[in-house]
Amino acid sequence: MKYLRIHIQFGAETPTFKRERKRPPLYSFKDLKYNPDMQLTAKVKLKTAHEQADILKRTMRLANTCCNFLSDIAWQERKFGQFSLHKVAYRQSRDTFPSLSSQVVVRCEAKVAQAHALDKRTKRKFKPLGAIEYDARILTWYVDKREVSIWTVEGRLHLKFYAGQRQIDLLQGKIGQADLVLIGNDFYLFAPCIVEEAEPIDISDVLGVDLGIVNLASDSDGESYSGEAVEENRRKFSHRRRNLQRNGSKSAKRKLKKISGKQAHYQKDVNHVISKRIVMKAQDTSRGIGLEDLTGIRERATTRRRQRARFANWSFVDLRTKIEYKAKRLGVPVIHVDPRYTSQECSSCGHVDKRNRPDQNTFKCVNCGHVANADTNAALNIRARAVVNRPNGLGHAIDRVMPGTSP
Ligand SMILES: [Zn+2]
Repeated sequence: MKYLRIHIQFGAETPTFKRERKRPPLYSFKDLKYNPDMQLTAKVKLKTAHEQADILKRTMRLANTCCNFLSDIAWQERKFGQFSLHKVAYRQSRDTFPSLSSQVVVRCEAKVAQAHALDKRTKRKFKPLGAIEYDARILTWYVDKREVSIWTVEGRLHLKFYAGQRQIDLLQGKIGQADLVLIGNDFYLFAPCIVEEAEPIDISDVLGVDLGIVNLASDSDGESYSGEAVEENRRKFSHRRRNLQRNGSKSAKRKLKKISGKQAHYQKDVNHVISKRIVMKAQDTSRGIGLEDLTGIRERATTRRRQRARFANWSFVDLRTKIEYKAKRLGVPVIHVDPRYTSQECSSCGHVDKRNRPDQNTFKCVNCGHVANADTNAALNIRARAVVNRPNGLGHAIDRVMPGTSP
């Protein structure tokens, strides 16, 4: 990625920028947590000629018609579970939709059951071009050739797909199921994949990492990771966005959507580079990674404003998620610590005081006079907390190497 230049600075002044007027949508907290087996979704775009796209659309339409048909039966018979629905509806559906393969009908049953799993009070309507599910019997991957063989109403289609190395790596852990999704005029396959986890490495210390919005990340070594390129881009995008917002026409709105998509894509790339660097650094120096524990932060009444603001920022959540999954893949342990007062506590004497933060960038302890970069100070606090946290099986090792670090 040549165009990405991540700016790394030591205690230099942090760039400041105003927060966007319009806030990005709040991220679901679920995104922060991992399934125990860590599942991620690979997304690949299919290369389709005109007539192939047409066949895929017809396939979607027919499958979704079948879903609505199944939904009718489910409501008539009050059978909403996948298996009970299968019992009462399979034969009828096969007879009504002879051109759908048996496996497609089964996937439709699963989709209808899933849609009603959460709420049985409202009957679900399936959009004609809504996503449809595939499994290994109706979709075959040839990952190395970047190709799939996919079942359609016209028989199997062999289609090439576009995918970067990251998606290809992910696809090694695909579990067989995938959704065919139409976005705009492009077809995508979304395939859930299991990410292989490495055995945890032995660690002798913890690299504390403070994540923020201005400085994307700062670590306890005093290194700060701010995407200089991100900032430049953000400025460019926000200028164009303002102009388009003023314009307000239909085409302006379309362009606006495109721009925000581009910006998000760009920022994700930057997060990829930063998270990689942090995790590699921890691995190379036999350290774990200390992060603030954000579990339940929404429920907590005493949540600090800084944390709320960060939490609402999708890029912050994205960077955090990337650090966690890369760490898991390399076996670098991640230790979560209590996030309270990490920014107000003095990393030198432990004194907690609001007045320790005369401004956004500076930390100056009113008790001992210790002066530091505010983000570095927070990262050091995170490190100190992670070291005494003694996660299962790790605390002992840390304790041995660094005696006397407990407060
Ligand atoms: Zn102090």
